[in-house]
Amino acid sequence: MDTARYYPLLEKIDQVSWQALNWFFPTACVGCGKEGISFCPECLGQAPRQSLDVCALCGDPLPKGRVCPACARNKPTYRGLRAYGLYDSLFKEAVHQLKYHRNTALGLPMSQLMWPMIDTAGWVVDAVVPIPLGAEKLRQRGYNQAHFLARPIALHLRKPYLPNVLIRLREVTTQTQLTAEQREANVRGAFLADPKLVLGKKILLVDDVFTTGATMRSASEALIQAGAAGVYAATFAKAGKA
Ligand SMILES: [Zn+2]
Ligand SMILES: [Zn+2]
Repeated sequence: MDTARYYPLLEKIDQVSWQALNWFFPTACVGCGKEGISFCPECLGQAPRQSLDVCALCGDPLPKGRVCPACARNKPTYRGLRAYGLYDSLFKEAVHQLKYHRNTALGLPMSQLMWPMIDTAGWVVDAVVPIPLGAEKLRQRGYNQAHFLARPIALHLRKPYLPNVLIRLREVTTQTQLTAEQREANVRGAFLADPKLVLGKKILLVDDVFTTGATMRSASEALIQAGAAGVYAATFAKAGKA
């Protein structure tokens, strides 16, 4: 069955159910509280975006070239990373609302902000996968915030959404204090991917925040190990330098 022809309908259903959620969360600007819009133009205009000259693999500022020295030395298995904004002020507040305050209705407008960035990245992807939470965190939070960003991206791209191909076996610790060897061990084996579902596919991984990159590296590694043909990474925000 060609499921792609149902995508416009699925997208519509998705949007209608998102609008139903507004009953619980009346739409208001995350920055100034203005009603009727999640990100008003004024707040969006002032919010911290990334500069255009960034490393294609970690998003850190880069004077010239494509990949920073740190990524060239220790290359991730994913081919490219894009982050929409900096994890600060407006965008940090948006992530907090989505993640810790159960404002899941914010997922669609946040996802929509990411769409042009993904459309212009020049990536060819076959499926969209959210970074999963570990079982314990999922139980505590009750939902995976990355799902609310990733599913609208899949519908927008008209590509299959595969929320169950990755399993998170353990949390990945912050990389900064680790030696290169410890980093390898830290990243390896934190996720498990289902070869039946990813073999030969180019996967777009989606998460809310890119911090040290350890999580993205680890999830990408699991997908490649399971036979994925390529991995790209998109996040709503990125912690650290402009
Ligand atoms: Zn505003
Ligand atoms: Zn880099």
